[in-house]
Amino acid sequence: MNFKEYIRVIEDFPQPGISFKDITTLLADGKVYSEVIRELAKRLEGQQIDLIAGPEARGFVIGAPLAVALGVGFVPIRKSGKLPSNTIEADYALEYGKDKLAMHDDAIKPGQKVLIADDLLATGGTIATSINLVKQLGGEVVGAAFLIELQELNGRDRLDGIDVISLVQY
Ligand code: 5GP
Repeated sequence: MNFKEYIRVIEDFPQPGISFKDITTLLADGKVYSEVIRELAKRLEGQQIDLIAGPEARGFVIGAPLAVALGVGFVPIRKSGKLPSNTIEADYALEYGKDKLAMHDDAIKPGQKVLIADDLLATGGTIATSINLVKQLGGEVVGAAFLIELQELNGRDRLDGIDVISLVQY
């Protein structure tokens, strides 16, 4: 299936010069969305994964159904101030902007093998910060999975040799 056909590209969103890959058009098609999750699950077959962690908000849209498909748990990585229990936090920079990401301090048991999932890898800032949080909690990051990778931003290079899979490249 050519997933790219279902992704809508919006120029100059949210800022001039950004070519935004809008996945809402893909998500609205149940067959295509479920095929995305099946394809990611297939590529991860045989890998030992205890948990999937995904950054808000689009990391939930990919990470949670992928966790269900693999039969493992899902842990949310959220913007600062959203999680109700004790958290750890780390700063991060986006392709356009800056913020803090947080996880519950008991979200991962030391030694658990964690896959990080998000919709899109751009500069890698979000995922580098997510990896940092998971490692602080004693988790072992075993890979990162994306629907989309923006190759010219070289996000992979920031991810310390962690296995990266993506289904659509721009
Ligand atoms: P990075 O931190 O790798 O530079 O940016 C990736 C993060 O920003 C992801 O969490 C992703 O959801 C969001 N993002 C950046 N650009 C786009 C885009 O063009 N389309 C979508 N859907 N998300 C984007």
